[in-house]
Amino acid sequence: MPMPAKAVLLVHGGAGVINRDSMSSEMETRYTTKLGDALIAGHKVLKAGGSSLDAVVAAIQVLEDSPLFNAGKGAVLTRDKRIELDAAIMDGASLQAGAVGAITTVKNPITAARAVMEHTEHVMLIGKGAEMFLRDIAKKIGLTLVEPDYFMTPLRIEQLEEALASEKERYGAASHSKTAHRKTRKAVGFDENKFGTVGAVALDQSGNLAAGTSTGGITAKRYGRVGDSPLIGSGTYADNATCAISCTGHGEYFIKHVASYDVAARMKYLKEPVSIAAPYVINTTLRECGGFGGMIALDRHGNAAVPFNTPGMFRGAVTEDGEVSVSIYCD
Ligand code: ASP
Repeated sequence: MPMPAKAVLLVHGGAGVINRDSMSSEMETRYTTKLGDALIAGHKVLKAGGSSLDAVVAAIQVLEDSPLFNAGKGAVLTRDKRIELDAAIMDGASLQAGAVGAITTVKNPITAARAVMEHTEHVMLIGKGAEMFLRDIAKKIGLTLVEPDYFMTPLRIEQLEEALASEKERYGAASHSKTAHRKTRKAVGFDENKFGTVGAVALDQSGNLAAGTSTGGITAKRYGRVGDSPLIGSGTYADNATCAISCTGHGEYFIKHVASYDVAARMKYLKEPVSIAAPYVINTTLRECGGFGGMIALDRHGNAAVPFNTPGMFRGAVTEDGEVSVSIYCD
């Protein structure tokens, strides 16, 4: 289903090698239904006159609660078999932003990111410090806390075991070195996996943009590794003057190329429309250096762009009048 050129809300559920041949029609339906549910949840907020921030949170929560995606329940595991979740949110009107890295006990990490934005003087909290703040404030602002086990699913445990076994088979004891990692990436192909991060960008009736992203990161990541998703300007960005963006893909590349802000900068300084700036960053800047992934981008006139340089990206859009479209593959 082609994406509409204009939208009030876009969502993604990750990019990667997602082929028709490897996806059963049952799985396809499950993914498209869930993406549709997220769009409907966000649209409901916008239609009632709610803010783009509320719409982003509503849409992302639906995806975080679904084990289909690599965010919240069903997130991927670290090398040492734990869950560490990253999320960010940004308000395009005020440039206020909040982010969390490597958290383990808030059911919906996007709400944790919002708590950092609205209840601290900081932009980002990580690890233990973040957990302490979130635990302290949970009751007051209605954050739901869970045991880390809540996020684990058998599929992700299996995926981790497979990833570690295949690394070991190829590179033996050296499997965790930087060279081996590079070789693994080349041999196995990062793009053989889908990434599964979730994100949303929204435009509300007051003309304000917002963006949010939530993820478990990358399977078998090191303890303490933080990707692009919670980094403002890399995986997440919103500015009413340019656009709202949420990325998915191999985070290290999105960090090095400051991918989201690069789109905004092209719009600001080169006066490119979002339909040129976003595909340029994905299909030229990132593709040329082997950075796989995609992004959803929306400007304050509702112009949408959903570029990706992988075979597929779970994505969807809803128009002002509630027309929902969802796509997975590149055609
Ligand atoms: N970008 C995320 C990360 O590197 C992964 C993803 O998009 O699935 O943490």
